[in-house]
Amino acid sequence: MSHSPTSHPRIVVIGGGNAGLSIAGRLHRARLGDITVIEPRTRHVYAPLQSHIAGGTARASQAVRPQADVIPPGVRWLRDEVFTVDPESRRVHLVSGGQLDYDQLIVAAGLRLAWESIPGLTEAMAAPEGISNYDYALAARASTVLRDLRGGTVVFTQPPEPASCGAAAQKPLYLACDWWRSIGVLDDIRVVLVLPDPVPFGIPSIDRELHRALERYGVEVHYSREVRSVDATARTLTIGHGDAEETIAYDVLHAVPPQRAPEWIAGSGLAADDDPHGFVDVDDETLQHRRYPDVWSLGDAATVATRRSGGAIRPQAKVLTANLRSALRGKAPTARYDGYSVVPFTVSRGTVVFAEFDRWGRPAPTIPFWRSLSRERRSTWIADRRVLPWVYWNLILRGLA
Ligand SMILES: Cc1cc2nc3c(=O)[nH]c(=O)nc-3n(C[C@H](O)[C@H](O)[C@H](O)COP(=O)(O)OP(=O)(O)OC[C@H]3O[C@@H](n4cnc5c(N)ncnc54)[C@H](O)[C@@H]3O)c2cc1C
Repeated sequence: MSHSPTSHPRIVVIGGGNAGLSIAGRLHRARLGDITVIEPRTRHVYAPLQSHIAGGTARASQAVRPQADVIPPGVRWLRDEVFTVDPESRRVHLVSGGQLDYDQLIVAAGLRLAWESIPGLTEAMAAPEGISNYDYALAARASTVLRDLRGGTVVFTQPPEPASCGAAAQKPLYLACDWWRSIGVLDDIRVVLVLPDPVPFGIPSIDRELHRALERYGVEVHYSREVRSVDATARTLTIGHGDAEETIAYDVLHAVPPQRAPEWIAGSGLAADDDPHGFVDVDDETLQHRRYPDVWSLGDAATVATRRSGGAIRPQAKVLTANLRSALRGKAPTARYDGYSVVPFTVSRGTVVFAEFDRWGRPAPTIPFWRSLSRERRSTWIADRRVLPWVYWNLILRGLA
């Protein structure tokens, strides 16, 4: 199973999203081998902006670029989809019927949105009142539905972990409430939030800020509840906890579905047998596969023992690059990912609560000694809405940040 060193190792990256392009750009700049990214989509979407689209603070067109324009220079794009991986023979099988041999494989295939796992949810999202910031088209629909609403009940739901920046489910809620308040209709709208945990986030300093925002907007929060089913015709959803169940009628449903890894990862033997969600079984610090040392993973598809986010991918890409370099030189990986992650809560249309934390839920501010970034601030709004999108398109996707 061990890798025989070549001067130009064939490095295959599965997925050309945030993680795949960040690592491909970095590895190319580090001259670690010939890099091929396998990605079927022709459009690349900057997912964090979908929250702003849904909440009315960005246009849909601002979140999307042709995939061909964002592939890092020097990296080959294979427009295909992986069907399965054979890690024993170091071969990737493609949906087109082709195959690709690798010396090093990086799995960056993201998460799958499991809409079908809640009975009735797919049908509810096909109806005009079904919206979500987790889907590009449904986020675009959300922007007009939430903007034009003047009364009735709106239900927002957040799924349990694992999820891609799961608490981002709350971002459009605060943006919409601020909009309704500004035009004087907030009192006519019943805003319901269904959360999986007993607190809005899970870090006391952040929860204090979020509680304040939820109270300010008069949001009715149902804590420690899961969505069990939706009736799209009757426009009701059933939520529960243990044996207790409750049905809520809605006029608008903003739903975020449960999430899991793409099935072919477990089907290829790359997940741990005891992982019900099927993520790539890498060491959560070195990002190297626990059984196949030529396989690596980062981003939403990897087992990282922290909350998944785009912000988490930046340190992961640095660690993976250093460790892959060591492995190609026959050395043990020594760089370690500390579980840094981030959720920027847009608590109004001009302020953000910027939650940065490590694997243990301890605050981990990017700017040392400036812990108060986690308070509601205008400066972090500018970072989330203006600076980070620019950094994403121009630096992160090229492996420069
Ligand atoms: C609505 C929303 C809001 C968010 N807000 C924030 C935020 O504010 N801050 C933050 O830091 N993070 C945020 N995130 C999380 C962030 O967007 C993700 O963590 C990040 O995009 C994960 O990158 P990834 O490359 O792992 O997965 P993705 O970006 O999903 O990319 C995976 C890629 O793999 C491809 N792929 C899948 N299967 C195959 C296959 N079989 N063969 C080949 N290619 C395949 C897919 O087509 C896709 O392009 C948000 C996410 C969402 C959905």
